[in-house]
Amino acid sequence: MIGMNKDRICSFCNQPMAGENPMFTGPDVDIRICADCASFAEELLQDEPAAETDDVCSFCGRTQEHDMKLLFGPEVKICNECIAFANKQLYGKNS
Ligand SMILES: [Zn+2]
Ligand SMILES: [Zn+2]
Repeated sequence: MIGMNKDRICSFCNQPMAGENPMFTGPDVDIRICADCASFAEELLQDEPAAETDDVCSFCGRTQEHDMKLLFGPEVKICNECIAFANKQLYGKNS
């Protein structure tokens, strides 16, 4: 799983990640969110009211539903469930 990480750039902050920095990757290899953004996103969306739109999460491909919140990056979107999952993966918390 390690290697070929020179081109890993977060889709939200556009920061290239050093080899050790964790990154959560979406179904498309060009879509990923870094630990910093995932942590920030989780805090941000906590205060965000859920809204209904036709937008689709770039990570899980679901359309926005009643209790689903989306964070908009420059070119991609991530939903609250993917953010929660990303944080579990990246920080190893939960359980
Ligand atoms: Zn980032
Ligand atoms: Zn999602």
